Amino acid sequence: MPFNSIHGHAAPLRMLKNILVSGKIPHAFLFTGIEGIGKKKAAVSFAKALNCLEGNGDFCDSCLSCSKIDRMIHPDVQQIEPDEKPDDDKKKEGQIGRIRRLQREIAYKPLEGKKKVVIINDAEKLNSEAANCFLKTLEEPVDDTIIILISKNFASMLSTVVSRCQKVSFMPLGDAEISGLLKDMGIDKEASAQVLSHAQGSVKRALFLLESDFLSKRAEVGRYFSLLPKSKFETAYDLSGLINDDQGRALLFEFLQTWYRDVLFVMEGLSDSVIYNQDFLEVISRMAKIETKEGVIKKMKRLQWFNNNPSLTVNFEMGLQSLFTQGI
Ligand SMILES: [Zn+2]
Repeated sequence: MPFNSIHGHAAPLRMLKNILVSGKIPHAFLFTGIEGIGKKKAAVSFAKALNCLEGNGDFCDSCLSCSKIDRMIHPDVQQIEPDEKPDDDKKKEGQIGRIRRLQREIAYKPLEGKKKVVIINDAEKLNSEAANCFLKTLEEPVDDTIIILISKNFASMLSTVVSRCQKVSFMPLGDAEISGLLKDMGIDKEASAQVLSHAQGSVKRALFLLESDFLSKRAEVGRYFSLLPKSKFETAYDLSGLINDDQGRALLFEFLQTWYRDVLFVMEGLSDSVIYNQDFLEVISRMAKIETKEGVIKKMKRLQWFNNNPSLTVNFEMGLQSLFTQGI
């Protein structure tokens, strides 16, 4: 599975391939981008390409080296998770101990590969003591060792660490890329289409939505709205009944935001192709004929406020009722 078989990320992958072909490989990289878009997969792929027995600037995914890295049993490639719960042997090690052990390990030449590769996930979670200790490794690079830091929030990392790494930016995935990944995982096309617009460019979020009760709740909201304006207060009551926890509330409010966004787009006469909730287009179009633009914008602002201030919204049922006091 060479680089061109990875969904999306054409620019950063091209950059990595060019670096491999040039042979001028920086000793430290920082892969940045939102969660769940494939940064870790790209880092593992890069580790494969650095050590592939067949590839030249790429990886074959079938040689012994690629296969060992795939199974994370290659002696020269390791991943570190700062948040990882230590096992009994390493209980007292902590992050600083783990970094010191890493520094001792990379002092030696690769055992069987061409390069030692250390992938540090969630690098922003390294505490300041561990990050400062790690800085020494970046300041005094070790031959044949490549460090790949992965972060979704590099702004919170030590600037001295960030400045010593070659930055590689990964952008949120497009709908086509996410649906391609979900298809590869054997996800049903219809379910995939329903979560796409709510995935915010992250395949991890798309999978989370598919595994949660998001789709069934979404279908319930569509059903309640199809009965409007018959019973506004009942609808508010039914919607508040769908909120069982903070996560459920955030998902419901985000979904309602996309719903009202769609109503606004239909009002503006925009093409159906830009509508997120295509399967509810009929109900959304009906709502667009009854609502006013000002009313819809007001609802969107209120939803945003509810979502940003959950602790101030004592009663979500009353909050949702206030959404329906004008229009539907
Ligand atoms: Zn290979």
